[in-house]
Amino acid sequence: MPEKKIKTRFAPSPTGLLHVGGIRTALFSYFFAKQHGGEFLLRIEDTDKERNKPEHEKEIIFGIDWLGLDYGPTFFRQSERTEVYNGYLKKLVDSGNAYISKEEIKEEGQRAEVVRFKNPNKSITFTDLVRGDVTFDTTELGDFVIAKSMTEPLYHLAVVIDDYEMEITHVVRAEEHLSNTPRQILIQEAIGAPRPVYAHLPLILDDQRAKLSKRKHGEKVSLKYYIEQGFLRDGLVNYLTLLGWNPGTEQEIFSFDELIQAFDISKVQKSGAIFSEEKMRWINKQHIGRLPKEELYARIQEIIGQDITGEKLEKVAEIVKERIQTFGDLKLMKEQGELDYIFHEPEYQKESLLFKGKGDFALIKTHLEKAISFLETIPESEFSAEKVKAAIWDYASEVGRGDVLWPMRFALSGKEKSPDPFALSALLGKKTTIARLHMAIEKVS
Ligand code: GLU
Repeated sequence: MPEKKIKTRFAPSPTGLLHVGGIRTALFSYFFAKQHGGEFLLRIEDTDKERNKPEHEKEIIFGIDWLGLDYGPTFFRQSERTEVYNGYLKKLVDSGNAYISKEEIKEEGQRAEVVRFKNPNKSITFTDLVRGDVTFDTTELGDFVIAKSMTEPLYHLAVVIDDYEMEITHVVRAEEHLSNTPRQILIQEAIGAPRPVYAHLPLILDDQRAKLSKRKHGEKVSLKYYIEQGFLRDGLVNYLTLLGWNPGTEQEIFSFDELIQAFDISKVQKSGAIFSEEKMRWINKQHIGRLPKEELYARIQEIIGQDITGEKLEKVAEIVKERIQTFGDLKLMKEQGELDYIFHEPEYQKESLLFKGKGDFALIKTHLEKAISFLETIPESEFSAEKVKAAIWDYASEVGRGDVLWPMRFALSGKEKSPDPFALSALLGKKTTIARLHMAIEKVS
């Protein structure tokens, strides 16, 4: 018999922002399905009418698309499937597996109907790809509620019916659902559904080992925040996939396609994974370094302006690549005027040219004149950071590097924070570099 096609799903409830934990669940489900030539579907679990919001659903769909998790035409909304659930509910009641129960609503002193599942009270053992065999005694669950009425199915029932009808073979989801699994298995058995294989993913914790939550960590738990921070898709995906999984080798940097191959669900750890924005930024930087040139250039232009082109753009890119971890960093640099020197002549007081506020102007004049004389020897077409460094280095080392390089750097950038004077010279080109050094000499003369 041919093996059954592997099918996984991402089944978020649109009750809050799209959490990085949810993203990791979606990624693991997706990688697992794709590496087995299987299918991945998206199912919006919107049975909780009070807490669902259309904007959350929109954010989920946007996020899954941004991540490039292709679910093809297999998109479902539970709110559109009530009829299906009602049919099963009726069968469960007719067969004696569930019953309508009239109950007092405590606060209101009213009586209402709920549908309860008739618990056979037994021990259930299921296989979890992360945790191994897990056993629960269902007795303590009692006859649990599966619907508010014969037309209002609740979560456990809907999940089981959907996973059955959609032929889900592997349920990959967050650890918090582990304790829901025995209830869902009881329902499966009652409707005659096969049992999927489970994989419950470890919690994501902060550095104090507290669960990453909206309440405690605010927007920093949301995908939206990291998109706004200018993370690359591949950087973000790479980092989140390392939360609870590692390849067991030294390799840390993976492209999206490499992850589809390398990810191994049986190597996912049980214990909580610590989230570190710092590490995530570092990984993102590695991906910026791997971007094809055209893409890097286009992203830089988008932020600093389309009028920077050609050789200048190449040089800016080289400098920027070293200094940013996300494109949000570049935006910030631009906003804080850190890149102004690319566009305008710097404006500053001559005192800024003094290294550590000390020294004298006559000496600065001598050093800058010397620097110019060295730079003059480099042909314009070879005016690279390496050549500039080679031309000036010996002199600077001899008379004091800070005393030469600081005024030079300040004369070129007009900023406390900027790349080194060699990179700046290459970026600005021979003519502008020498002109700016002359300007500084004028100031101190
Ligand atoms: N809708 C559930 C949630 O958002 C997920 C259910 C499941 O994956 O089985 O947490």
